[in-house]
Amino acid sequence: MEQLYVFGTGNATVTRYYNTCFAIKNPENQYFMVDTGGGNGILRILEDMQVSIPDIHHIFITHEHTDHLLGIVWMIRVIATRMKNGKYDGDLNIYCHEALTETITTICRLTLQGKFFKMIGDRIHLIPVHDGDKRQILNYPVTFFDIHSTKAMQYGFTMTLENGKQFTCCGDEPFNPLCESYVKGSDWLTHEAFCLYSQREQFKPYEKHHSTVKDACELAESLGIKNLILWHTEDKNKENREKLYREEGTPYFTGNLFIPEDETVITL
Ligand SMILES: [Zn+2]
Repeated sequence: MEQLYVFGTGNATVTRYYNTCFAIKNPENQYFMVDTGGGNGILRILEDMQVSIPDIHHIFITHEHTDHLLGIVWMIRVIATRMKNGKYDGDLNIYCHEALTETITTICRLTLQGKFFKMIGDRIHLIPVHDGDKRQILNYPVTFFDIHSTKAMQYGFTMTLENGKQFTCCGDEPFNPLCESYVKGSDWLTHEAFCLYSQREQFKPYEKHHSTVKDACELAESLGIKNLILWHTEDKNKENREKLYREEGTPYFTGNLFIPEDETVITL
């Protein structure tokens, strides 16, 4: 059975969570990692959760924003080091939309030592994906799709788990109806919820093109989602986030609602 490793659950500017990123672990203990958060903190989280770096061979980056992208520099840094030391078998595949391959290459060229940067194109591969592209990742068919962001080009994906269930990641913006065919009826949906609807005046989610808990729950209900995971949130309610978000969301969503903390595992 697959497990969802939740690395971070915060939005871009949080200080008390790590930025939202996660991995799907298959029964053979291999990981498909999705986003990397904003920096070096990802390495501590992997260590805390006993995720072995040599078991990560597939990473998908949704978009270019700092809170999703910059951790990739550190992942490349540590994996390239292990490759050079004979402590990482095989290759690392990084999937992202076409323009992002250039961005990642440039950032790595400017910030990594030449001996590490040289691994890109050798044993580290930047693999461009396009709207509707299907890839086999680990033992899963994964379909990538453009979420039609108005801020920065961003991709999500949907995949079929070994038990036949569909797992879909919508990225960090509200669902766009153009993506309905990829998202509707998913057994699992990850969706952003910037804050509570009742605190929208305080956090101003709509100005930032984000959703509230109520919005995400109403949306998931209308799409027939069975399990909804909310994250990419503010951190001012940290002590009571789970309780408050659940209280607000439950009246609008009849499926199972998950509001995970950083460094937790959900069985899919
Ligand atoms: Zn974000």
